[in-house]
Amino acid sequence: MSDTPLSPGSTIGILGGGQLGRMMAMAAIQLGYRVVGYAPAGDNVAASACDDFFENGWGEKDALAAFASQCDVVTWEFENVPLSAVEAIPEHLLAPHPKALGIAQDRLNEKQFVEQLGAKCAPYIRVDSDDDFARAVERVGAPGILKTARDGYDGKGQWRINSAHEAEGVRFPGRTCIYEGMVGFETEFSVILVRSKTGEVRFWDSSANTHEGGMLIHSVLPAGDLVEAQVEEARGIAAKTAEALKYVGVLTLEFFATRSGPIFNEMAPRVHNSGHWTIEASATSQFENHIRAIAGLPLGGTATRFASVDMRNIVGDDALTAHQILTEEGEPHLHLYGKREARDGRKMGHVTRVSHEAP
Ligand code: AMP
Repeated sequence: MSDTPLSPGSTIGILGGGQLGRMMAMAAIQLGYRVVGYAPAGDNVAASACDDFFENGWGEKDALAAFASQCDVVTWEFENVPLSAVEAIPEHLLAPHPKALGIAQDRLNEKQFVEQLGAKCAPYIRVDSDDDFARAVERVGAPGILKTARDGYDGKGQWRINSAHEAEGVRFPGRTCIYEGMVGFETEFSVILVRSKTGEVRFWDSSANTHEGGMLIHSVLPAGDLVEAQVEEARGIAAKTAEALKYVGVLTLEFFATRSGPIFNEMAPRVHNSGHWTIEASATSQFENHIRAIAGLPLGGTATRFASVDMRNIVGDDALTAHQILTEEGEPHLHLYGKREARDGRKMGHVTRVSHEAP
């Protein structure tokens, strides 16, 4: 990563072809950059926002080299890009540093890393067999959640265990997992920050987030008194995490707000679904500031410009009737990602509603 700002017309490469890449590419184009994407064949909705798009496998070293040869900086929109693919890109082009990916791709690593920096986590135990699982349920107790250590997202690779009896009916899925105790939280919130090449850190306001079946569905601001009382401590942890990784770009940490303080759940070394509202409601969106950070441009302000903000995901078939939202009063901001197939549980778009009136 060079220290001089990327001049207009330079090329930003994005690994991954989903909606986060699409919105990131739109921000990059606005700042005068070319954008090249790379992802395996599929419903790559980022492609229509890119000047060029490589549909190649993560193992295709020649294609990765051809992609990298076009780029002045390479970032990602998806944290499960295999490290072997990232390592095929010259390191000086990458932002953030791939160490952040290596940590975030494994739940055990990320919990240990953030715990060392002072965060509290739900009790958890590594599980490598049926016997480990039985012991973990005994020690941590139930209810709890068995989660694959790697490759889970939007609630996939997770099994909720309501009782020790129920655990007997669940088999170890054959790859390393963690079993963690269920946290009795009041609400969930995320800390989203951007860190520049010079180490400047800015935070967006934290939204209160609601998940259904492990998938984010709704983010609102203001987040309520409990979250507001815990944001400072959570920001401290997020800032230490960014500093320890010499992170450049947008970094997200998710927390449970409990009566005994914030409990760290997981981190995403990328822009985040719970920050989509920043497009309309912040001085600078998470997408634009990610691009500014990796391009070495000055960061933009992160202040929230409205008294109340409500971002709701549009999932599955709801996308088919989503244009009806445009008839609502209050100018809702509708985003559809252009996905070809409205499968159940698939994020198809989102809508952000903003108001100058407090809720
Ligand atoms: P994760 O994939 O770890 O982010 O989990 C997705 C969602 O599942 C979280 O945002 C929570 O809503 C819920 N969840 C995950 N782990 C726990 C836990 N230990 N206690 C309570 N809820 C959890």
